[in-house]
Amino acid sequence: MFTTMLLIAVIFVIIVFYIARVVVLQQEQKADEDAMRTKDVYQDIIEQRKRAMSEKLRLEKEASQIFTLYEMTKDINKNFDETEAFNIFKRKVRENVPTAEVELMDVSLEKLKETRTDREYSIFPLKSKEHKLGYLIYKGVAQEDKEKFLILCHQFALSFRRIKLYKDIELLAITDSLTEVHTRRYFMGRFSEEIDRAALRKTQLSIVMIDVDHFKSFNDQFGHLTGDRILKRVGQIIHESIREIDIAGRYGGEEFCVVLPETDLDGAILAAERIRSAAETAKIQAYDHTVKVTISLGVATFPNGGSNINELLDNADWALYRAKSLGRNRTVAFGKQRPS
Ligand code: GH3
Ligand code: MG
Ligand code: MG
Repeated sequence: MFTTMLLIAVIFVIIVFYIARVVVLQQEQKADEDAMRTKDVYQDIIEQRKRAMSEKLRLEKEASQIFTLYEMTKDINKNFDETEAFNIFKRKVRENVPTAEVELMDVSLEKLKETRTDREYSIFPLKSKEHKLGYLIYKGVAQEDKEKFLILCHQFALSFRRIKLYKDIELLAITDSLTEVHTRRYFMGRFSEEIDRAALRKTQLSIVMIDVDHFKSFNDQFGHLTGDRILKRVGQIIHESIREIDIAGRYGGEEFCVVLPETDLDGAILAAERIRSAAETAKIQAYDHTVKVTISLGVATFPNGGSNINELLDNADWALYRAKSLGRNRTVAFGKQRPS
């Protein structure tokens, strides 16, 4: 009886132990599975974090590029000079695409192909709405840098176009639409600046006042439109007869003025005579008419012939009036005994 009881007890213990083991094993397995799942989730999180990090880096890089472009536009937009803008662009290219070599060519495509015999370069055209303004030629841009490089080129092209446009508008604003010399307003400003400069440097400066002889008769004979054509050509003749540093302006209807910086009275008489003679010898084609014109000129020199803008203009005007009264087609200098 006792043995039976003991046997039952042992069997019971074994069964309990077995059940307990099964339960523990199941729990362990479940715990393992949970751990695996947690590990998977954790790995997912790590992966996501990695992806987020690389996306963050990419966005940071993009932001830095956009910032660079913004900085570049800001820098380029600050100035109104093509060369200066190009130098800034070149600096930005060097910082962003160090292998690139880029040049600005302000010529036609034909000329460009003539002057550049190496064929390794690529061309990026710079154009306004109507016409080509020039070309960027470049080489040494790796495929992976191409997009960035072209963005920089586009930015430069926009700035280049803006600078050219600004210059055109500026030129229009200071150019007399009929005669294509400077407007009176611009001319007077420049005249005043040149007097200040001459006073500062203690140099001489001359003014030549020009009036077309008997201009009214051209209008009367051929009409105003033809008169305009003649006037336009006179403006061109004056412009063609002076130096780059001289400043020509339309002073009134058919009156012009030229400022000759760093020029004494004798030099100014020579310059005035050059203009007079060019006008006298020109055969002016105005619509169906070929006409000959003459001009009269009055000269005054700073500081002896006037110490300020009004005195100089008055004295040059006086000399011009003398030239007219002495028979026209001549130069008279204020302060000279006899007209030349
Ligand atoms: P001179 O100077 O030799 O004494 O004779 P002039 O005939 O040139 O004299 P005046 O100064 O009296 O006449 C200038 C004429 O120029 C009068 C005006 O009708 C004409 N004129 C002024 N501006 C223009 C213009 O823009 N176009 C045309 N067609 N004529 C103009
Ligand atoms: Mg006249
Ligand atoms: Mg006149």
